[in-house]
Amino acid sequence: MSTLTKWYPHRPNEDGTYDSICPTCTRTVAREMSEANLVEAETLHKCPGLSPSLAKRIEQPMVPAQILAIAALRTLIDVHQIEETRLRAILADYPAFKVKLQTQFELQRLVIRKKAQAGKLARLEAEN
Ligand SMILES: [Zn+2]
Repeated sequence: MSTLTKWYPHRPNEDGTYDSICPTCTRTVAREMSEANLVEAETLHKCPGLSPSLAKRIEQPMVPAQILAIAALRTLIDVHQIEETRLRAILADYPAFKVKLQTQFELQRLVIRKKAQAGKLARLEAEN
């Protein structure tokens, strides 16, 4: 048996009692006049697992999170586009071999990252 105890949030009620809520199945495990008295019921709680409504919420695609991810990726790609332009300008301006080599390396890495981000963005947009 695990020695870790699950943390049950306690909700104070208007009548002065306290509810103990199971964080897994979201059921009210017990209602008592004092919080200390909730502990016994919490230890005895036979958790059926995720409630159907909670399980459904977890299964559903996180649309707002996806929209945020798309916006973040677009910004990142824009920033990388600016950086790519800057690196290409350095390549054009500096004839020194070492600078060119380093910049070329940075540019290659940037192009690969941009490609990966564009792919991720396309996948996210296709899901919406
Ligand atoms: Zn439970």
